[in-house]
Order: sequence, then structure tokens, then C-alpha cells
Amino acid sequence: MFNTPTSSFLDLILPPVCLNCHTPLSTPNSLCPPCWQGLTFISHPICQKTGAPLPFAIGPDALSAQAIAHPPIYDQARSVAHYEGTMRSLIHKLKYQDRHELTTLLATWLFHAGRPLIEKSDLIIPIPLHAHRLWQRRFNQSALLAKRLGQLTQHRVSYNTLKRRKKTRSQVGLTMKERKENLRNAFVVNHEHKQDLADTSVLLIDDVITTGETANAAAKTLKTARVSSIYILSLGQVGMNSI
Ligand SMILES: [Zn+2]
Repeated sequence: MFNTPTSSFLDLILPPVCLNCHTPLSTPNSLCPPCWQGLTFISHPICQKTGAPLPFAIGPDALSAQAIAHPPIYDQARSVAHYEGTMRSLIHKLKYQDRHELTTLLATWLFHAGRPLIEKSDLIIPIPLHAHRLWQRRFNQSALLAKRLGQLTQHRVSYNTLKRRKKTRSQVGLTMKERKENLRNAFVVNHEHKQDLADTSVLLIDDVITTGETANAAAKTLKTARVSSIYILSLGQVGMNSI
């Protein structure tokens, strides 16, 4: 599906390898069997709101205890897999080792996990990095994923509608109150795009959902621009039920 006319020629020069561990493979853009086994894809039953896995099926509108106790501002979130094992390794390679060739496989997974949300969305927006972090890393991994997903789905992707104006610290280890404070006013909508957002459905792309507070902060900001529905799609999800 993603092979270009030159891919077979390139395969002769650079034989395909596992994208995670470099074991030789017969097909490009894939993983070896042990690395596949290191993935824990999230499947039903899941929380209708947060996409967190549930221990047993209790109907299509089931909500996790987390979603009931602290209803999210966004409408729905879905994630590809648990943020552990191979998924954690691939995300780290994309973010910190500039392995941009992973984007094709990762975006394909986003497409399959998020298809119902994608179909309901008018516009794809990557969760932005603060300018200082973007300068340090030189690229936004969520923007790379959003771009590839946009190509796969023919959806419009906007990279400068949402801006991060506050350099937030990691949410890990913070209390819920500290997390909210950390992200207070973290995002702002670019004035030039505010009118375009009214009554639209937006799909936000992030690499990992940790506490869900980043997604909530971004959703809260988009609501000020009268966005009608906000969906979140991520590769990895940290156990939100346990937070
Ligand atoms: Zn492998």
C-alpha cells in the first residue's frame, strides 16, 4: 500500500529490517515477530469517553470510573496500544532518535484505531510543542504523525491553529491539582484561525496520553473558539484507569 515504484530497488540496496530491532525481514515498514508480541493493542471493551480498556464488557456506552469521577472536556479519545514494550520503544525512537521513517507504520496504526473518530472529524491538529522544545528537538513528533495521517485519510491538517505558549513540565509524578496548574493557559488558538474553527469537529493527535490533562487543556482552549467536537487520537496510553 505504501510501496513506491522505487521501493523494490531500494530493498536490494537496503534490505528491509524490523523497525524496532533491525532484525532482517522480507517486507519493509514492519516488525519482527518478537517485536509484534511486545505490543499490547487496546481493544474492546473500552471506556466510550477516554478509550481506556475496561476489565469486562458492560455495554457500548460504558464509562471508566475515571471518566465518571472526572468527566473529560474532550468528547472521545482513542489510543493504539498501551505505552509499554515495543510501543514505548518505537515512540522513543521517533522522538529522540529522529527515526522519521517510523511514521508510516505508526500513522497506519492511528488510522485503524481511530477510524470512527477520523470519520467524524473535519480537521486534524497535532498537539503543539512549546517553541523552545521545538527548537531543541527540531521537529514535533505529533505533527509528523498528523501529516502522515492526513495523507492517508485526505483530511486537512493545520499546524499553527493551536499554539503552546507555556513551557510545561512533565505531568508524571504530579498530583491532579498540580497537573491542572501545570497546564493552565498552556495553549492558545491562533487569532487568524479562530473564525475557521467555529462549528467544526477537530481531531487532536498526540504521541502518548498520560493523564489526559494535556488533551483536556487543549480541548478547553479549542472550546473557546466554538469547536463543536474534540476527539483525541494517540499511539500510546498510560493506564488511565489507575490514575
Ligand atoms: Zn524486532
